[in-house]
Amino acid sequence: MHKFEIIQQGKPNGEGVILFYRTGKGTEIYCLGVPLHYASGEDWDLGPSWCYVIPGRKLTLVDTGQFDKYDLLKPMLKQAGFDVKDVKRVIVTHGHEDHDGNLTDIFKASGAELWAHFAYQNMIAYYPGIDDGANRPDFPGSCRTCVMPDEFNKNCRRYQSDRSLIKIDNPVKNGETLPDLKVRFILTPGHSPDSLCAILDEEIVFGGDTLLPTITPHPSLMLEYLVNKRVLPEGYGDRNDAYGLAAYINSLHTIEVECAGADLLLPGHRLFEHGSINYLKPAERAKEVIYFHRERCENILKILGSRILNLEEISVELFPPRLRKGWGKYMARREVMSHLELLADLGDVEWADGKNFTSRATGQRGYNSYFDTFN
Ligand SMILES: [Zn+2]
Repeated sequence: MHKFEIIQQGKPNGEGVILFYRTGKGTEIYCLGVPLHYASGEDWDLGPSWCYVIPGRKLTLVDTGQFDKYDLLKPMLKQAGFDVKDVKRVIVTHGHEDHDGNLTDIFKASGAELWAHFAYQNMIAYYPGIDDGANRPDFPGSCRTCVMPDEFNKNCRRYQSDRSLIKIDNPVKNGETLPDLKVRFILTPGHSPDSLCAILDEEIVFGGDTLLPTITPHPSLMLEYLVNKRVLPEGYGDRNDAYGLAAYINSLHTIEVECAGADLLLPGHRLFEHGSINYLKPAERAKEVIYFHRERCENILKILGSRILNLEEISVELFPPRLRKGWGKYMARREVMSHLELLADLGDVEWADGKNFTSRATGQRGYNSYFDTFN
C-alpha cells in the first residue's frame, strides 16, 4: 500500500500541503502544493500546482509552479529541507504558466539544468514575423492562440518575456532516460504540443496536465496546428499529431501501454483534494479519460440532433452554468471545438459555416469504431 507522510498541513484543496513518498526502490519524493493565483471559487477549484522534489545525486525539481510564485515555492522547498540553490535539474512537464513559472529565478539562484520536450524551446520563443491567423502573433509560440481577453492575460507578459530567454539544456526525445535516476520520458502531446510524462522507478508517473485525477485537461485544437505549423520544430506535427483531441487520445493510449506497470500518478493538479490524497493507477486513469471523451462525443452528437448549432449553443447544453461562469465560457467553447474537430475528421459532423463554427451531425457514428481501436 502506498504511504505518504504529511510533512506540512495546508488547505483541504492541497494549497500549502507538503507530502513525502518513498518508492519501492527507495527513491524519495517530496510533493509541494504551490498555490495558484486563480480565484478558487466554491464552484470550481483547480487546487494548487504540484511540484515534486527528487533528492539524490542531482536534486531534481519536476515543474516549478505558477509564474510570480517564487516567494511561495522557496519556503515550501525550505520546509521540505532544501534550498533553491541546491536544485541541479529541472524537468518541465509542459510550457503552461502554472507549471513552468519561476524558472528564471530558480536558474539564477541555482544554475540548474533544464530538461523539457524538444518542442519547448520553440514554444517559449516569439515569432513577430509569423502571423498565420494567430489571435496573438505578439505572444510566444505557446500562447499565440490565446483566446482569453487582455484583462486576463496582461499579467503573463513579463513571465513570457523572461521565459523566452531560457535555453533548454536537454531537449527530451521520446523514450529518453536520465543517467543517474531511473526516469524514463514519454512524449504525450495533446494538451499542449510540448507535454511529456516522466516515469520514475517504473512505479510513479509524473503526469503534468496530461493525466489528472477527477478532471481532464482541455485538449489543444487542430486549428492551432495551422497557426503554429511554422513555429514547431521542423518535421514535428506534420501529421497533425502535436495538436488536437486525437493527439491527446493517442497520448492517453501511450500512457496505458507505457505505464502499465506503474501504480501511482503524481499529477500537476489535484493530488490532494477535499482533505485527502487521490490515489490513481496511471494506466487505469488514462483508460477512464479515453472513455470520458468517447461519451462527450456521443453527448455532443445527441445535443446537435438535427439542428445546426454554434460552439456557444452546444456548450450551454453540454456544461452546467457553474462551469461557464466568467472565464469558464471560453474554456467551454474550446472544449466543444476540440471534440467537433475530431467528429468532423471522422465524418460524424460537418461544418455548416466554417467561419462561425456552426456544425450539424451527418448521422454517421464513426466515433464508435475510432474509440473501439483503443479498447
Ligand atoms: Zn497545462
